[in-house]
Amino acid sequence: MDLNTKLTVFERMVDIYDRFVDQFDLACKKSCAHCCTANVTMTTLEGYRIISHLEKTGEVNCLEAIARKSHPDRFMPRVSINRMADICARNGDPPEERLNPEAGPCAVLADDACSIYSVRPFGCRCMVSARNCGQTGFADMDPFILTVNDVFLQHLEHIDAQGYTGNFADVMQFLGSEGNRHNYAAGRLGTPPAALLANQPVFVLMIPPEHRERIQALLMQIRSIEV
Ligand code: SF4
Ligand code: SF4
Repeated sequence: MDLNTKLTVFERMVDIYDRFVDQFDLACKKSCAHCCTANVTMTTLEGYRIISHLEKTGEVNCLEAIARKSHPDRFMPRVSINRMADICARNGDPPEERLNPEAGPCAVLADDACSIYSVRPFGCRCMVSARNCGQTGFADMDPFILTVNDVFLQHLEHIDAQGYTGNFADVMQFLGSEGNRHNYAAGRLGTPPAALLANQPVFVLMIPPEHRERIQALLMQIRSIEV
């Protein structure tokens, strides 16, 4: 699959997800930004889409600000979601992740609004809550949405299997280099740098037994995406 096809598949997945999540009564709205922290992660495919958007809008110079504002204690995952699913399916112990909830706001948050809202990472799009997290202190997410989120994130890593996963700021810094962007677009990435993880295809989906039937319709929609 070439890069443009991957980007189109991703757009279709976003459409499917938005239609799915629209059925729920959510407290989320623009300018509600308690969930906009420096701990967001994403794939290189999403990073490439964001940088292409910034190039179109003439805002690509914000990459420098993202690098400058990136929190030193931001969340840096030790395993990707597909690797984690793989380890769990084999009854292994995934490495413990360390996340500092005080890592501060996301580098592209400005006046409580996301400056890249239309192309925000999927991890931001799927962070939803039935009640305002600012009042409750936590996200109130329907367990089925959690399962669907995992399945979408697993498929997203799958279509970007030749790419990397990492913290938003690290992926942006990596793709901020024209050479890295070129190699990524050409499908020529090698071993990831220390801050990033190599993606892998889906071997097993993380779907608890109680959601296996309910999720079938969504799985069919994802699998019937044609480009
Ligand atoms: S997840 Fe919570 S903080 Fe984020 S937009 Fe929704 S209600 Fe607001
Ligand atoms: S990218 Fe946008 S939506 Fe995601 S955490 Fe940053 S400001 Fe929030």
